[in-house]
Formats: sequence, structure tokens, C-alpha cells
Amino acid sequence: QAKTSGRNTLCFFDPAMQQSLETRAALEAELRRALPQRQFFLAFQAKVDSERRVVGAEALLRWQHPERGLITPGQFIPVAEECGLIVAIGNWVLESACVQLREWNSLPGWENFRLAVNVSGRQFRQPDFVAAVCNIVRNSGVDARQLTLELTESSVLDNVADSIEKMHALKTLGIVFSMDDFGTGYSSLSYLKRLPLDELKIDQSFVRDISSDAGDATIVRTIIAMGQNLGLTAVAEGVESESQLEFLKRYGCTLFQGYLFGRPQSAADFVEAQRQRE
Ligand code: C2E
Ligand code: MG
Ligand code: MG
Ligand code: MG
Repeated sequence: QAKTSGRNTLCFFDPAMQQSLETRAALEAELRRALPQRQFFLAFQAKVDSERRVVGAEALLRWQHPERGLITPGQFIPVAEECGLIVAIGNWVLESACVQLREWNSLPGWENFRLAVNVSGRQFRQPDFVAAVCNIVRNSGVDARQLTLELTESSVLDNVADSIEKMHALKTLGIVFSMDDFGTGYSSLSYLKRLPLDELKIDQSFVRDISSDAGDATIVRTIIAMGQNLGLTAVAEGVESESQLEFLKRYGCTLFQGYLFGRPQSAADFVEAQRQRE
């Protein structure tokens, strides 16, 4: 209660807060136009194995605003989530990822390329989420086994039984599930065992100080060991240095993502970067 009245007080008396509310309303209105005006695009970041071979990529949403320039998801996904636009945007992301996969499938050596797509909580909680994904994948003509959906702990834990049912339904198509930002939410061993997951993505906040912070190193080791025991692949995100990579490999991590291997890039730049690697 104290929190609510505190908020109201701020809304009425703090000009900075008033301004940020106006900015937010403007952002929401602009977000509404972004999809029909084709201001979104996908960036792709490589995912590599311990030999640094690229095994796939993660699709990351970008908003090219006509006046504000490039806006990162951290600045607009929460707003899209709150006003419900995330559902349409999420479907667009999945459609675009499938179009890209289909195009890449025809490149020599890219037949088994895997693409991961982030799914927001509100999107995942839609009653017709399974049907929507099925339709998009079927219409695209891509093999569902090439697709990974990244969920977060908060999206899944909201209604575990419903989440398990949805994941099972999509897994019969061949879709792979990954738990993103793992370790930052309410990780509980009992639900982790029940969820039909394939992969755990170790949050970048633990990877950052892995070589200097004993606590973070322990958390990373524990996540990897736990994943191994549950038959889940551990993926480290935010790998920026060779020393981080060394630590992660020593603990048994097998898949990696981060600036050390490549930043998120446009589709054209991503393909070009892979050509240079060969
Ligand atoms: P995420 O899924 O955990 O993605 C990883 C984020 O870390 C990305 O930020 C990526 O650019 C960044 N990153 C990758 N490697 C490194 C590194 O070595 N160092 C550092 N410091 N950062 C690195 P980005 O693209 O700004 O996305 C932020 C978050 O926004 C994502 O976190 C994801 O939760 C969300 N997001 C992105 N695209 C989508 C989408 O299409 N739909 C939904 N619902 N959420 C998305
Ligand atoms: Mg992700
Ligand atoms: Mg993550
Ligand atoms: Mg993250």
C-alpha cells in the first residue's frame, strides 16, 4: 500500500516522472506503428561449440526508429509486454526467423543450421500460443527441429502445469526448449526436473566475473553439473574473453555465445562473417 501511494505521489508532484510517463506514452504509440511500418529487423549472434564451430545463432530483435535511431530490446520489450503488443511482435519475430532459416537452408553447409528465438512471458501465456507457433512453422516450410525457443524462468513458473503442456505439444513437432538467463530467477530443482527442457543458458551476469569472483564461479559450475545430471546442455552467454572461455570449458560447458565469437549482426553481415571463417 505504501508503495502505491508513493507512486501516486511521484506521478503528481515529480515533473521528471511526469515527463517519463509522457515519453512512455509516446513510445507506446510509436511502437504501435513500428510493425506496419516495417521498422523492426532481426540481428543474429553466433552460438559456437568448444572448437569454435558455429552451430547456430540467436535472433535478437532490433527497432530502427526513423528519428530516434536504433533502439535495443531492453528499452522497448517491457513496454510492448505491458501493452500487449508483444504478442504481434513475437509472432513477427518467429515468422521472420523462419523466413531466414529457410533462406539459409539453401546455402551449402547450412542445412542443419539452428536458430533460437526469444519468447516473452505474455506471449508464451497466450492460450493459443501452441497453435500460433504451429501455424507459423508449418506455413514457413522449415523443419521445426531447427528451431529453439528461449523461455525465461518467470514465464514458465507463472503456471508450471500449463507451461509443461505447451512445451510438450511443441516438442512433438521437434522444437527445442532453452531456459534463458538461467540462475537469475527462482530456480528450483523440483520444477527444473519436470520441465521438458533441452538447454540451460547461464546468465551473462555469472559469466562476467567468473575468473575473479569465486561465488560466480561456483554458481556456474553448479549450473553446468546440474544440467549434466538432468541431461541438459549448458550454454554460456556473454563470453567476452579467452580466460572466461577457458574457465567455462574446464567446468564442462560445451556451447558458447558472446562478443568473443561475434556480436549480433544483420543477416547479410552474419552470412559474410561465416564465409570469412571458412
Ligand atoms: P537475451 O536473450 O539474454 O540475449 C542476450 C543479450 O546479451 C543480447 O542483448 C545480446 O546482444 C547481449 N550479448 C551477447 N553477447 C554479449 C557479450 O559478450 N557481452 C555483453 N555484455 N552482452 C552480450 P540484446 O540484443 O540487447 O537483447 C536483450 C534482451 O532482450 C534479450 O536477452 C532478450 O531477453 C530480449 N529480446 C531480444 N530479442 C527479443 C525478441 O525477439 N523477443 C523477446 N520477447 N525478447 C527479446
Ligand atoms: Mg535469449
Ligand atoms: Mg540470456
Ligand atoms: Mg539477458
